[in-house]
Amino acid sequence: MHITIIGGGIAGLATAFYLEKRAREQGREIQYVLLERSDRWGGKITTESVDGFLIEGGPDLLLTQKPAGIQLCKDLGLADRLISTNSDRQRTFLVRDGKLVAFPEDFSLVPARFWPLVRSPLYSFCGKVRMGLEVFVPRRRDEGDESLASFIGRRLGVEAVNIGGAMLAGIHSADAERLSMRCAFPMYVAMEQRYGSLIKGVRAMRKTRAKSSAMFQTLIGGMGELVDALVAQLDGDLRRGVAVGAVRKTDGGFEVVAGDEVIETDVVVMATPAYVSADLVADFAPDLSLLLRGVRYVSTATVSLGYRKRDVEGQHDFEGFGFLSPKHEGRRITACTWVSTKLNFRAPDDGVLVRTFVGGAGREDLVDLDDEALIAQSREELEDLMGLTADPVFARIFRWQRGRPQFDVGHLDRVAEMEHLAAQVGGLFLTGSAYRGSAIPDCIVQAVDTVDRILGEV
Ligand SMILES: Cc1cc2nc3c(=O)[nH]c(=O)nc-3n(C[C@H](O)[C@H](O)[C@H](O)COP(=O)(O)OP(=O)(O)OC[C@H]3O[C@@H](n4cnc5c(N)ncnc54)[C@H](O)[C@@H]3O)c2cc1C
Repeated sequence: MHITIIGGGIAGLATAFYLEKRAREQGREIQYVLLERSDRWGGKITTESVDGFLIEGGPDLLLTQKPAGIQLCKDLGLADRLISTNSDRQRTFLVRDGKLVAFPEDFSLVPARFWPLVRSPLYSFCGKVRMGLEVFVPRRRDEGDESLASFIGRRLGVEAVNIGGAMLAGIHSADAERLSMRCAFPMYVAMEQRYGSLIKGVRAMRKTRAKSSAMFQTLIGGMGELVDALVAQLDGDLRRGVAVGAVRKTDGGFEVVAGDEVIETDVVVMATPAYVSADLVADFAPDLSLLLRGVRYVSTATVSLGYRKRDVEGQHDFEGFGFLSPKHEGRRITACTWVSTKLNFRAPDDGVLVRTFVGGAGREDLVDLDDEALIAQSREELEDLMGLTADPVFARIFRWQRGRPQFDVGHLDRVAEMEHLAAQVGGLFLTGSAYRGSAIPDCIVQAVDTVDRILGEV
């Protein structure tokens, strides 16, 4: 069996890794080629070192509640390279009327305890009462999808939409009014169904969860370490700098046009953005192509700024993980992470590293600014919100044009239809961040599932 995997981001790399692993375990002979358009592996995962600072251009954390990311690190022998966020300094802030206000200690969306909610200056008295009444809101009977804003508004009230909701939407650079609850946050949907209340659900889960377990982990050397380990351990035919221009269906399988070469293959795995896959299947699966083209993407950018500690002393204490800036605040950055507080091994002893986020739903035009303007606007916002006037010792920008897939309400139904149409082609698989979740662990789960289906089918 010959398999062609298109796209060398985490989805394509994890597919290759688990393909080799499963085939070995089953004593099966497979051959595969992994084709990546750019001259670098990892797609959105990119880590750089500058003057002792470690900079992530894309993802920086693995959510431990989705264990597939941590499991892959362990499968690669990286268990002793995992580190957790510094939970003792875990405060996060929200921009509120131009000021940074701390999220209540202990929760960002669901108030599991009474006092942190009562004491929080983020919510009005009515907002707090409304949140407390969540335990009496009946569970939803309709099994259809709904937006994040609708879900939170229904359960916790309008204020929670603008605070906790803004935070959750920010994870996907999305608009809370359009983001699919079932696709983006299925755990809250399941919690409502199981416990009839998010507050009751969170309380019940806290009793069972180990107190010490960190919510996020990463690797000492950054997420790039995951990519390096994958590439080092793969035995297949790995080719960088090869863009797939076309895929043709033949009687026995496919022809994949990769640069000057035509590769004959039995199975094609598309681990590419949905709009790329849409072009590649257009000739032999037009309906599928149409659905793929319907997945919206938004553009974002990150601006990392490194400072000397002595230059920022007295300006800000960086006690916390950073802040979020909801759209209605009208700021030109959507969030800022105080990287060197959140994680060790990210800045030299005398350094401070921050990363601002730009763009996303409704704010995409800012991503197109030139480097100078992008850095200037981040610095202006940090001065205004944090009093940070020091000159950074470096600035590094990463732009992600059409980089974030948007899971609009009903997304999973459309994905099921895509999978059905791909299955009709035979030997064609779609995997990665455009489908059943975009976090790295989601991509890995989908890669494992793709491998199981390939090996089950052929
Ligand atoms: C700024 C940012 C921060 C994030 N933070 C987190 C985080 O902290 N934790 C987390 O879990 N997730 C995070 N994410 C999401 C996560 O990083 C991505 O969803 C995930 O890495 C995408 O993986 P992928 O393999 O599906 O796609 P990609 O990484 O986009 O890979 C697709 C690959 O396909 C290649 N390709 C495209 N066209 C072709 C072609 N014609 N031929 C060959 N190759 C082609 C591309 O070059 C690319 O390498 C973040 C994303 C961004 C942008």
